[in-house]
Amino acid sequence: MIIGPHITISKGFSKASEIAVEIGANTFQFFSRNPRGGNAKEFDKKDIEKFQKIRKENNFGPILAHAPYTINLGGTKDDVYEFGKRAIKEDIARMNSIGIEYLCFHPGSHVGGGIEFGTKRIIDALNEAIIGNEDLVVLLETMSGKGSEIGFTFEQIKEIIDGVKFKERIGVCLDTCHIYSAGYDIVNNLDDIIDEFDRIIGLDKLKAIHLNDTMTDFNSKKDRHEQIGKGKIGLEAIINFITHEKLKHLPFFLETPLDEAGHKEEIKMIKEEVNKR
Ligand code: FE
Ligand code: FE
Ligand code: ZN
Repeated sequence: MIIGPHITISKGFSKASEIAVEIGANTFQFFSRNPRGGNAKEFDKKDIEKFQKIRKENNFGPILAHAPYTINLGGTKDDVYEFGKRAIKEDIARMNSIGIEYLCFHPGSHVGGGIEFGTKRIIDALNEAIIGNEDLVVLLETMSGKGSEIGFTFEQIKEIIDGVKFKERIGVCLDTCHIYSAGYDIVNNLDDIIDEFDRIIGLDKLKAIHLNDTMTDFNSKKDRHEQIGKGKIGLEAIINFITHEKLKHLPFFLETPLDEAGHKEEIKMIKEEVNKR
């Protein structure tokens, strides 16, 4: 199983990978730049070398960078759009240069401009940002549908993918909390939901999972992550999900509200539950 939490890289990539190993993870997610936006930091060459060594020695699975939440490629404000386009383009290049496999981002919110307008803007931005010779794959995250978010149905995600020129460079990161809140009942109809994803988007496009439980009810269109097994999805459904024949090979990233010690316990508990199957 490939599993790891979100870890801060404020103390460097090598430190983050050491923490991952220490807490029983074999991958991790991190922010591609400060989550409140701003300019990206230069990399420390020694730190990156050490990070590469650690992840190789410990057989890490693919690593996931998450773009800052301040990026909105779907809205009506031109200054926000220009910042977002520049940041995503830069971060694709930056993450690619250090061998990060995936960069996920929230497709965007149309903030009144409408889904059609927002979707077109997202597609245009991606076609400017993705050059085509990257090794990295850009992942659209499935959203809960709060506010004017785009990307809370498989059809909306598919429409963005269809507009992107370099198809090999675009994929999906499925967030369990978000799709449950969006109205996909992974607790009672997991097989049907997986089939639906396959029919509309294609399972070959699914590259990573954000593994979260949720505080809010099914179809609530809210986005409140909960610790694994303590929310409305529940432990059994989560274990069904990660052990599913069509999903178990994927990397699972925890975005649960826990510190490092808490994530260590959570990973241990998940592994124990998986081993009981
Ligand atoms: Fe996210
Ligand atoms: Fe997420
Ligand atoms: Zn979320």
